[in-house]
Amino acid sequence: MYDVLVIGAGVIGCAIARELSKYSIKIGVIEKEPDVAFGTSSRNSAVLHSGINYLPGTVRAELDVKGNAMMDELCASLKVPLKRIGKLTVALKEEDLPGLYKQQKQGEANGTPGMELMDNDKMRTIQPGIEGILGLWTPTSAIISSFGLTIALAENAKANGVDFHLNSEVTAIEKGEDSLTVVTSDGKRNSARVVINSAGLHCDEVSAMAGFTGAKIWSCRGEYYVLDKRLNGSLKTLIYPVPGPNDPGLGIHLTPTVDGNILIGPSAAYITEPGESREDYRATAAIMEDLKREGLRLLPELSASDFIRNFSGNRPKQTPPEKGGNADFTIEDVSEKVAPGKKVGFIHLLGMESPGLTSSPAIALKVKDMVEKHITLSPRTDFIAERPGFIGTFSELPLEQRMDLIRTEPEYGEIFCRCEQITKKEIRDAIENPLGARAMSSIKYRARAMMGRCQGGFCVPRIVRMLRDEYGFNPEDYFVRKDAPMFVGRVRESARGGASK
Ligand SMILES: Cc1cc2nc3c(=O)[nH]c(=O)nc-3n(C[C@H](O)[C@H](O)[C@H](O)COP(=O)(O)OP(=O)(O)OC[C@H]3O[C@@H](n4cnc5c(N)ncnc54)[C@H](O)[C@@H]3O)c2cc1C
Repeated sequence: MYDVLVIGAGVIGCAIARELSKYSIKIGVIEKEPDVAFGTSSRNSAVLHSGINYLPGTVRAELDVKGNAMMDELCASLKVPLKRIGKLTVALKEEDLPGLYKQQKQGEANGTPGMELMDNDKMRTIQPGIEGILGLWTPTSAIISSFGLTIALAENAKANGVDFHLNSEVTAIEKGEDSLTVVTSDGKRNSARVVINSAGLHCDEVSAMAGFTGAKIWSCRGEYYVLDKRLNGSLKTLIYPVPGPNDPGLGIHLTPTVDGNILIGPSAAYITEPGESREDYRATAAIMEDLKREGLRLLPELSASDFIRNFSGNRPKQTPPEKGGNADFTIEDVSEKVAPGKKVGFIHLLGMESPGLTSSPAIALKVKDMVEKHITLSPRTDFIAERPGFIGTFSELPLEQRMDLIRTEPEYGEIFCRCEQITKKEIRDAIENPLGARAMSSIKYRARAMMGRCQGGFCVPRIVRMLRDEYGFNPEDYFVRKDAPMFVGRVRESARGGASK
């Protein structure tokens, strides 16, 4: 029996779990995937937005500005990479100007700090070579590791006593007098006084399981290209176009990542084909071509070999395809609708598209206030705010510190992933992660191995050998993501005498 169960281990579910772990209550998180951050939270632009994009008075505007301001302290405590590189929203032609002034006005009303309108010469002091008739500079825009933040929140929540139930898909929610019972695909039944539905693309379905049928989510895919680190440094800031009034996203932009790559994207296309899953993360040939063209227009020095991979992420939209645009976040306590007259709580978060990542710590505070209406929250004196022992990325530490670490732990001296300079010890820490997550992507998101130019060509055989020889894992059981096995069998006798299949 839990006090609170959170459904969905994206950045928002994990931020809520960590926030609630500051209090003396029992918390569980239920996630259908083999690890946290396997949904939208690892498939986005990873930008902390400044507040200029959202209508004043909306929940999104309020939580975006508030969440952005909370990130420095949070990321410092949890050792999550964050870079305040600012953003230029650029009007390329006269027709873009009304949209640009609208963003400025919204920023003023929403409390966006430090905004400045810039002519082309001034913009060029920030980004050499940029072309535009007017730009809006927002210095609090930033880049972050979105999966890094989600993992950090989850692992810190776990250190503070939160239980994570991975590979557990919620299939039903049963109502009792003073608890809700969450039934999952692995046959488990967990009960709680308060259930928080933070199930992203499936939040409407999960609310319907509890008896709330008024919600509807459409999935809107955004595709990206990832560019090689060769171009690291060529983009000094975030450069966005002025979005049109009914655009479902913020337009295709160039985004430097905290790791030194550049993203081109995202596109915006609703998933409307019958039978297509809301989590269909395909990359389509036509959009890839568009992105390539756009990339070459914006960065003419690009060559074909700079496009190293692609990915996509899907927005959980409350606006239907024929309407487009964006709806506000819906963060509601619907306990009375779900279980009238009973002593249970049901809170759902619908349509948590952008800026859900930026807003996540502020959303967690808002949800905590809602939970407090159902149960008493007494602060703990033993809350651990940091991640003791976690060193961050070894290759980014000062030389002296790296030398000291190699002296005490020789596996820091052995490079496993050449592209990203990731050491054997970092891979080991990722394999032995506190959540017990067992997927190739769990290692990738934690250690950054397999994310470089060769996309795992060099390090995967070493990692697999380590999993097999040092941990006794069968490589055929290892998968990239759910239902995506890494290996399907052996092609020849192994040198150790194993039979071929
Ligand atoms: C293309 C794109 C670009 C974006 N760019 C930005 C940006 O730059 N800045 C920004 O602030 N925001 C951005 N966002 C928005 C941001 O990524 C999301 O708001 C945020 O990640 C949502 O987090 P979440 O925890 O709600 O969802 P998710 O990360 O999707 O987590 C929901 C979890 O619920 C789980 N789940 C679903 N159903 C069940 C079930 N039945 N049982 C158990 N578990 C279940 C899923 O597996 C998933 O892990 C972007 C989004 C997209 C798509």
